[in-house]
Amino acid sequence: MSTESREIQGTQEEKEEGKVREIPLHNLDMRRLIQLDACTRCGECLLWCPVYDQDEKEGIIPRRKVIDFLKIARSQQGFLAKIMKSERVSKSLKSLLGTLFRHHEVSHAEIGDFVRNLYECSTCGQCEVVCPAHIDTVNLWEDLRRLIVSADYGPLESQKALEKSVKAYDNPWQQPRAGRTKWARRAKKDKLIQDEPRNIKKKKGKVLLFLGCTASYDANVRQVAVNTINILNALDIDYGVLGKDERCCGSVLLRMGDPEHGRLFRENIRQFNGLGIDTLISSCSGCFKTIKQDYPKVETLNFEVMHTVEFLARLLEQEKLTFLNPVEKVVTYHDPCHLGRATRGFDAPRTIMNAIPGLRLTEMPRNREYSRCCGAGGGLKAGYPDIQNRMAQRRVREAEETGAECLVSCCPFCFQGLNVGIMARGSHLLMKDMSSLVAESLLGYDVFEKAAKEAEEKAAEKARKKAEKREAAEKKETTECKSPEKVGKNAEKDSEKAKKKAEREAERAKKKAEREARKKAKEEAVA
Ligand code: SF4
Ligand code: SF4
Repeated sequence: MSTESREIQGTQEEKEEGKVREIPLHNLDMRRLIQLDACTRCGECLLWCPVYDQDEKEGIIPRRKVIDFLKIARSQQGFLAKIMKSERVSKSLKSLLGTLFRHHEVSHAEIGDFVRNLYECSTCGQCEVVCPAHIDTVNLWEDLRRLIVSADYGPLESQKALEKSVKAYDNPWQQPRAGRTKWARRAKKDKLIQDEPRNIKKKKGKVLLFLGCTASYDANVRQVAVNTINILNALDIDYGVLGKDERCCGSVLLRMGDPEHGRLFRENIRQFNGLGIDTLISSCSGCFKTIKQDYPKVETLNFEVMHTVEFLARLLEQEKLTFLNPVEKVVTYHDPCHLGRATRGFDAPRTIMNAIPGLRLTEMPRNREYSRCCGAGGGLKAGYPDIQNRMAQRRVREAEETGAECLVSCCPFCFQGLNVGIMARGSHLLMKDMSSLVAESLLGYDVFEKAAKEAEEKAAEKARKKAEKREAAEKKETTECKSPEKVGKNAEKDSEKAKKKAEREAERAKKKAEREARKKAKEEAVA
């Protein structure tokens, strides 16, 4: 049995005693309890769930999760559960009550199944959009995960590294804190940005750019950070970053049900509130949703929170932003769950893409609130990488069918997630972040392409000079060999060598003749 199964299903001791750990239902908001009862079991969610689409397991359907949770709750809480647990009630009475009221004692194995099903969900919110009973499912799943974690049944073993990393290093990628600003030094060296972004604590700015862990640490996603910096510089925005003082937004902890997210939220809120900023912007949809929607549940924010695309769309509307350079590309757009369904940020990205000359947007059949999740969020990628891979491939297939050359999104998590599908399918699609299109139109070129071209030209120039040098050296040698003076000198050397050789051979022949003469004389004397 795996550690995961062991942990979820309980220790041997607990099993032998027939005990299951109690889920602290009293921590669940009354609203959630009402919502659990509001499910009509209509099954509409089944038709839309992107995880069920790839893994047709009955237990992962929202209505099944609701039924299973209620079963656990009824078995552990309430008047009947108390009677069934009481040592003062006889076994025969318990048996009678159990039959009469259909009381079912849930086992470790049943709780284990429920926990695995609860975490096989990307918290994409699609079920919430289609639910006729308007059940606030994403918050419901997150609250249930919190109960599960407090009863020590979750998260899954494979998700624990993410949690531990956030707590130990302030980022989910197990990278040292000091490495958070490494991307900027590297980008400057590679000539992708002119200067490293200014620290907001040193040079007060009115806009804080919250870069987020994925764009800061994942080298494959650095285009998000690089392009955002170039855009803000091109537009002369008075902004700054937190540099090494930036910490994870805590989204990972919240989505997986770790109660420590509250501490991280409070620490970040106090830091942000103390900066005297007007606006916080982020190019990460996950960070944006967490700071905008989840932080205010903990403490009040004294600034506005916007996704970078919304900030740019506003500048466009205020005529402070004009796209002059064409970007001749056919693209399709993937709405990130956290910007789209969660905060209804559907228009800003499309407004921007439509304003860029030369750019043609071709939509996938499932777009806006029906955008098919790539599976990167909610801890699903860590818990069920195979399912995430298949979900990403499904979305990439849909993107390929539009005939686009680029798949665009505005979230580093989606960037990573969709790239899994592009690689797995060997797709022709090029993954791009929205910031890359904006920067290209503002600057008139793609900084990565320009830097790569310059590096290629530099390498070619170096190789050319080296070849020239080698050729010159060879030529010099050949020329020297062919000059009359050199030819004469070489001939002299050769004849000298030949003369010495002849002298040595004559000397050897003379000595040999003398030896043979002495030998003959000796033999004659003996005779
Ligand atoms: S949130 Fe998304 S993945 Fe989770 S159950 Fe609902 S539709 Fe399925
Ligand atoms: S769509 Fe809503 S009401 Fe219908 S089964 Fe799913 S969760 Fe229940």
